[in-house]
Amino acid sequence: MGEGNKDKRKKKKRGGAKRRMTAEQTLALKYVNEWVHLAQPQVDDSGKGDDFLPEMVGRATVSDKVVFELHSHSFCSDGFLSPSALVEKAHQNGVKVLALTDHDTLSGIPEALDAARKFDIKIIPGVEISTVFSTRQKFELINREDPESEEPVHILAYYSSYGPARFEEFDKFLENIRDGRYLRAKNMLLKLNMLKMPLKWEHVTRIAGNGVAPGRLHVARALVEAGHVEDLKQAFARYLYDGGPAYSKGREPSAEDAVQMVCKSGGVAVLAHPWALKNPLRIVKRLKEAGLHGIEVYRSDGKLAVFSDMADAYGLVKLGGSDYHGKGGHGESPLGSVSLPVLAAHDFLRLARPIWLDAIRDILKQYVSDPSEQNLEHVTRFGKPIVTKGNNSRKDLVYRSLSTWLTKEEMQHEDLKAIMLRLSDVALK
Ligand SMILES: [Zn+2]
Repeated sequence: MGEGNKDKRKKKKRGGAKRRMTAEQTLALKYVNEWVHLAQPQVDDSGKGDDFLPEMVGRATVSDKVVFELHSHSFCSDGFLSPSALVEKAHQNGVKVLALTDHDTLSGIPEALDAARKFDIKIIPGVEISTVFSTRQKFELINREDPESEEPVHILAYYSSYGPARFEEFDKFLENIRDGRYLRAKNMLLKLNMLKMPLKWEHVTRIAGNGVAPGRLHVARALVEAGHVEDLKQAFARYLYDGGPAYSKGREPSAEDAVQMVCKSGGVAVLAHPWALKNPLRIVKRLKEAGLHGIEVYRSDGKLAVFSDMADAYGLVKLGGSDYHGKGGHGESPLGSVSLPVLAAHDFLRLARPIWLDAIRDILKQYVSDPSEQNLEHVTRFGKPIVTKGNNSRKDLVYRSLSTWLTKEEMQHEDLKAIMLRLSDVALK
């Protein structure tokens, strides 16, 4: 034995010649590509007035590598770029699917979706929810050596192009966290003041930007600008670290509550950067019970075996993204730099698409049962309706909004067909 072994597979050349794909990978790629290249809405509908069914297969070239970027921030939370600048950068970096996952807000999504129309890029509406994991929360035997341990946990949520079902409830949930952040930032300033490092509230909110809940990073930047510390690293290492002298807790929900909230609003719940956690195994166990779907495993420097094994053990999908903030410093992974294997992208979409389809159906059902302006907003919240010269019925509008997200087969779902039938009775003003 031993001769003729096929060790070629082991030589991975990054960006080098094509490797031969297995049959499984080929099928996965086909599946992923089909979804990624569903028709983009046409901005200029040149006179095909009566053809209300958008073309189902995009004209875009289908590639053998699909770059997913599933973790990124804009200045709607603590990133530095606007959502449109982020989308443009993603495009430059070859990203085909971008999830904008700002902290505790969905406010950047409409702009990102709008900007993405210019490029051949798909936006997955996302959010990164600040939560707290506490060992107290359940009737778990409290370990005498570490009673009541608590740590911050970030939960990523991914939605369909319609966003969360039960939008108001979900938005309230996020709003409560954001309000807590204002309170928390104020407390941090109080503590810094007592440490003889006064900062002006206006200074911090100016750094955070209009309407953005200030976070630790904004306070850290203010500390640097005020000359209290040399750099961001020092601000964190000396004062702002978890439990540090100027640290303050917000009003974050428990990690379990956040996961359950994501599940019931038609999202996919994923544990962010588990390598930053003190108790990853315990947290994964508990969150899996709450409905967790996936866990970040891939980074720019490769796959982390520990968490990959954990994902296997608990039946979680394996994801990852660069967590790009646009800070521009060394050590920041570029946008789109995580190479998510096609099988991982496939597993993610296989899991997510039925969840998203359910959420879309719920939102549309609500709309047809009460075609009010407010319910129409649920349908068009994340995508401005494209008004064309020809057909502008509500049915047409809904079709257009769905065609970038659902395949022909999914559109043939009985519930959706029934919804479309009812929609055709309703005229758009
Ligand atoms: Zn993040």
